[in-house]
Amino acid sequence: LVVMDKVNKHYGSLHVLQDIDLTINAGEVVILIGPSGSGKSTLCRTINRLETFESGAITIDGKALPEEGKELARLRSDVGMVFQSFNLFAHKTILENVTLGPIKVRGTKKADADKRARELLERVGVAHQADKYPAQLSGGQQQRVAIARSLAMEPKVMLFDEPTSALDPEMINEVLDVMVELAKSGMTMIVVTHEMGFARKAADRVVFMADGQIVEQATPEEFFTNPQSNRAKDFLSKIL
Ligand code: ATP
Ligand code: MG
Repeated sequence: LVVMDKVNKHYGSLHVLQDIDLTINAGEVVILIGPSGSGKSTLCRTINRLETFESGAITIDGKALPEEGKELARLRSDVGMVFQSFNLFAHKTILENVTLGPIKVRGTKKADADKRARELLERVGVAHQADKYPAQLSGGQQQRVAIARSLAMEPKVMLFDEPTSALDPEMINEVLDVMVELAKSGMTMIVVTHEMGFARKAADRVVFMADGQIVEQATPEEFFTNPQSNRAKDFLSKIL
């Protein structure tokens, strides 16, 4: 579904993505893990062209994302993205946050978008907050709204970049539970996280990155119990 073929990117003299080859199959849940600065966020952002890259190719469902224009907006909406900070529109209600994309980008009728948004808010457990504003919700609730907002665009793949790292501990699980449900429902997901519980429960594969390279890939079980490379061993000794 997502294919990265020899993708290279520099920030000045820093070779932040080095010959990245990565294939993610439909329905697969992939955890991207690695030391700070290894290029995890950059990799995620190149997938939906929030970042450019210099060489190589990225396709989603066989289609390359165009550099710009209307086509980019439409194809980009195939890729949902949830960040560490929730990035909800502060002056719009929770319901409006979720309906805006479908109405503007997909041309969905308001009544249909509202109905679908309420279903999604129900699914992530914040249906009763639909008419409130983001600031009136807890961090965990806002992050679940951000997930619902992405899902409203009916993406083919969802990218999560440390979705729980800005949350207070007691809110982490309510967000991870939604993500586990999403994984079980068959969504294709790329998740940057150090949450081992989520990795063990929901991931099909762990991809370990260091210094702009994919160093090793394995099942969560294999990776966490028997990492192969010294860099992975060193990394795990620090986080576990
Ligand atoms: P973290 O775990 O801390 O989030 P990461 O693996 O997500 O790290 P990236 O954010 O992808 O790492 O950054 C990879 C490298 O690229 C880092 O050395 C970072 O300083 C550098 N970098 C990231 N964004 C930019 C930018 N816009 N301009 C210049 N350098 C950047
Ligand atoms: Mg990052």
